[in-house]
Amino acid sequence: MREAPHLTFDLDKPGLSKGHLVVPKGTDCGALSLPVFSLNKGEGPQLLITGGCHGDELEGPIVARRLIEWLPEAQTCGRIIVVPVLNPPAVQACSRNTPVDGLNLNRVFPGRADGSLTERIADAVSRLLLPMADTIFDLHSFGPGWDFPPASTTHPIADPNLMGKTLRMAEAFKFPMTLVWEHPGSPGMFDTLAQNQGKVFVCPELGGGTVGAEALAIYEAGVRNALIALGLVKGEAEYPTFLQAKSTQTLETRRSTDEMKAPARGIFEPRCSVLDEVRQGDLIGILHPMDSLSADGIDIRAPETSIVYAIRSGAYVDVGEGVALFAHPLIR
Ligand SMILES: [Zn+2]
Repeated sequence: MREAPHLTFDLDKPGLSKGHLVVPKGTDCGALSLPVFSLNKGEGPQLLITGGCHGDELEGPIVARRLIEWLPEAQTCGRIIVVPVLNPPAVQACSRNTPVDGLNLNRVFPGRADGSLTERIADAVSRLLLPMADTIFDLHSFGPGWDFPPASTTHPIADPNLMGKTLRMAEAFKFPMTLVWEHPGSPGMFDTLAQNQGKVFVCPELGGGTVGAEALAIYEAGVRNALIALGLVKGEAEYPTFLQAKSTQTLETRRSTDEMKAPARGIFEPRCSVLDEVRQGDLIGILHPMDSLSADGIDIRAPETSIVYAIRSGAYVDVGEGVALFAHPLIR
């Protein structure tokens, strides 16, 4: 008989307890043991914090482990389950997808008990951890090759009540940007599974490519702000400083006009910064084709008045690759 996914300890034990979520072996590899921490202070919000869904986004696992250092002291009620790394083989390989089967964990939820490794991880998380939470913070990073401001993100949700609750939760991080992200309908996302069960699900997306002390400090401060908003931790929420400012704005993307693509191959030179407001025709970057004998680059101009929420950095881009992403103030 096949082994079932299981936890090696009782999540209901009061105080801090720890153990493993065991993902059973399959035909492609042996069993995995994911470290899990449960901080139980009785009645109150039930929160699940996960990191390391994508193996090349290392801020989340670091912040998750930092939380475990101070939460036992600071937490006043409820239960917080922390899984710093959902996908250990991907983190070890520092790759977005799982090396064993090439799958993206955030596209295979709810997973399959008899599937490949990535599907078995999703199955174990869906069965044993997700039901224990009413709110989920899945800690991601934007990834390499882009400048992106510290942000909490969500997607449009059909249920207006859950959309409102999710947006308020996302804004409670007080990151420089809260983004409602119109996503091309990707099946198998962890968010969608949780939201279909009526749960509040927020993804911080912060940093990318390199792990820096400043980004980590903002990340941790944002999560602490969200814990305060949930009533799990006492304290004063504070806006973290980013680009010399302490502020936040809530933006949304519109799929049709939110991406500027490279018209040629070349090195992209940004001429604006993230969170800059640009008007139609403003110069946002220059593309330098390396095979040209002219010193002139190709001007890349804003298609409409909008806010630059991500800009390509340090990248040789191909024709049709994105170089800038735009958003607009959220219309409520
Ligand atoms: Zn990610």
